[in-house]
Amino acid sequence: MTTQDTHSTRDPASDDGAVVLEARGVTKHFPVKRTGSDLLARRRRTVHAVDDVSLRLRRGSVTALVGESGSGKSTVARLLAQLYPLTAGEIRLGGKPVKAGRGRSFRSYVRQVQLIFQDPFASLNPVHTVRYHLTRSLKIHGKQATEAETAELLERVQLTPPGQFLDKFPHELSGGQRQRVAIARALGADPQVLLADEPVSMLDVSIRLGVLNLLRDLKERLHLAILYITHDIASARYFADTTLVMYAGRIVEGGDSETVTQRPAHPYTQLLIASAPDPDRIVAGEDEEDGEDEREERDEQGETGGGEPPSLIAPPDGCRFHPRCPRAMERCRTELPPRFELDGGQWAACWLYENGPAGALEVAAR
Ligand code: SF4
Repeated sequence: MTTQDTHSTRDPASDDGAVVLEARGVTKHFPVKRTGSDLLARRRRTVHAVDDVSLRLRRGSVTALVGESGSGKSTVARLLAQLYPLTAGEIRLGGKPVKAGRGRSFRSYVRQVQLIFQDPFASLNPVHTVRYHLTRSLKIHGKQATEAETAELLERVQLTPPGQFLDKFPHELSGGQRQRVAIARALGADPQVLLADEPVSMLDVSIRLGVLNLLRDLKERLHLAILYITHDIASARYFADTTLVMYAGRIVEGGDSETVTQRPAHPYTQLLIASAPDPDRIVAGEDEEDGEDEREERDEQGETGGGEPPSLIAPPDGCRFHPRCPRAMERCRTELPPRFELDGGQWAACWLYENGPAGALEVAAR
């Protein structure tokens, strides 16, 4: 599948006016429950789950946040949904800072920013019908909950004819249908932003593409800003306009999806892509097991970097990727790389680019 097939040619990064939701320097540290030895040493430890994350979600655009499990990407979604208070930083909705809190302002925020969870079965109450879930969502958000309104929500997620689904219980639906109901329930709020946390990772490979296509269709028809959290960089290329790559609590690379996936700059992104299954196979709906075998083989050959992400209780100094990085230099162990701008809006937080894209080639040639 070509780029033209899969992406709009519009450059969302050029349209500053369309920013709906923004994170500025967002940081989240969780305190670790103290053990006996911590008490003896009078030590307070924290998990540095998210550090200094900045991103912008634009109307009518999908932004993928990609990383391994434990990289902090789901925590970013929860921070943007205001499920956790921030340790530092700021969230802005429609250009205005969002105040933490509950009550009316929180309800108004949730109406505009809806979170879709990974597991559609767990997010729907098994003792209630589809009709109940949709009616409740419409009522909570101050909408009319007529038969026509609930039916329209189902039509929006392509569960038609709606009469076939309204009185079903979650266990009577397939995984893909359940996730569509969860999306319909989120749409009941008439949101501006959808935060989709691994929305297809628990679904059969054969139906993932249908749900991703649905989200893309909603983005275009309703001009939604969508954050797509995923561990699968191949699907980010297919589905997202912009891709951000997260490693050990920090965003290390960003740019338009085609560039980041075809010309990855950061060594971590390069390793992610080397270990990803062939995107054309995923798009074709083939099983991931073949890709897994291939990945293991390349892992054994040292092509994917192998290794484990670091502990976020005591993350490495300097660049957090340095213990796994095949191109690490001395300064990488002590100095945190800032974000270096590359061509076409791409950027990477890596010392290789201190002197621009050409600088990386010079370092490689040494
Ligand atoms: Fe590798 Fe250094 Fe770049 Fe980090 S800053 S990714 S360790 S080269």
